[in-house]
Amino acid sequence: MYTWEDRARAQSEKTQSLTLRPENTAGVVRAYIEHGLGESGLLQKLYYIGPQFRRERPQKGRYRQFSQIGAEVIGPPSAGSESPLRDAEVLEMLATLLDELGITGWTLELNSVGSAADRARYNEALRAALVPVVGQMCGDCQRRAETNPLRVLDCKVAADQPIIETLPVIADSLDEESKKHFAAVTAALDAAGVPYTRNHRLVRGLDYYTRTTFEFTHGGLGAQNALLGGGRYDGLSEMLGGPRAPGIGFAMGEDRLVLTLLAALEQGVVAAKADAFIAPLGEGMNAAALVLARELRHQGLWIELGEGSFRLKKSFEAADKTARQIVILGEDELQSGILTVKNFSTGVQTKVPRGELAVFLSN
Ligand code: AMP
Repeated sequence: MYTWEDRARAQSEKTQSLTLRPENTAGVVRAYIEHGLGESGLLQKLYYIGPQFRRERPQKGRYRQFSQIGAEVIGPPSAGSESPLRDAEVLEMLATLLDELGITGWTLELNSVGSAADRARYNEALRAALVPVVGQMCGDCQRRAETNPLRVLDCKVAADQPIIETLPVIADSLDEESKKHFAAVTAALDAAGVPYTRNHRLVRGLDYYTRTTFEFTHGGLGAQNALLGGGRYDGLSEMLGGPRAPGIGFAMGEDRLVLTLLAALEQGVVAAKADAFIAPLGEGMNAAALVLARELRHQGLWIELGEGSFRLKKSFEAADKTARQIVILGEDELQSGILTVKNFSTGVQTKVPRGELAVFLSN
């Protein structure tokens, strides 16, 4: 973390300890408490976008200042905040987001760290299991075995991996309630067809996590392969002096999202071109072209809109650079409701009724 004593501005003034924020979940929960957001009795769905600061060793995808996009679902238990369905809902939303961004090949890694009591039990089991083997492990692990045994599971040193494989897993320390909660999360994901893998080593560093923890990873990212991570924090509000307010949230590394999208672009998985370019024939058609663009965008298409003063040749050139197809909109097309579409990769020109245009363009 970046923490320092700020200079006093006047002799009479005291210095202040300042810290640059390393993450946002605790801040969101503090705001939830401070503004009494639980009083509505409803679930709160909050988001943030912004810079975070951590004193880490920089490498590709790991910076000391980076940006996160995060969201939290939090509320009183009576609003359903503790339900495993919240976890599954957040994970399904994230899977859909990545799919819609055209990011293929992601992996959802899932685990449960149970209740605070489960974690304490596991910590002890891990500490005991480390005693006879830690002498053969790396220096970091030897230190972690003393200070925070859970962090041993984050070790990437190749020689330590066979030893880590023999350590107890947290799944065996979970109580019945936590096991039931996790089973309900995975059952909902199975039903919705969201794929995941159980990663017993995903315990996350911060003490406030309870039950579900997760990460979406992507091979295109290299060593720092976590695109986003998150989990449930059912006791955090009470830790900060607030009411009971179970919650679950995630943070996505914006820098890593850009790296993933660039990798997908290079592999041609993500489209670099719009679905269609609308070319109005004459300035008199501009407004009608906007209506058509709006119609198609509402149906989920990526549309580039031209300009009626362009000559047809210029429209074709601009369209070829920015879109897969061009739609010509002149007075005749507007009256007849039959539009001409040209596909640039096949060179084929087709007449398409306006009502079928969205489906035609998206294929
Ligand atoms: P965390 O808050 O540690 O759970 O991190 C959530 C996400 O933020 C990670 O999955 C990364 O995508 C991103 N992230 C975390 N630390 C860094 C960093 N030092 N540089 C760039 N991105 C990061």
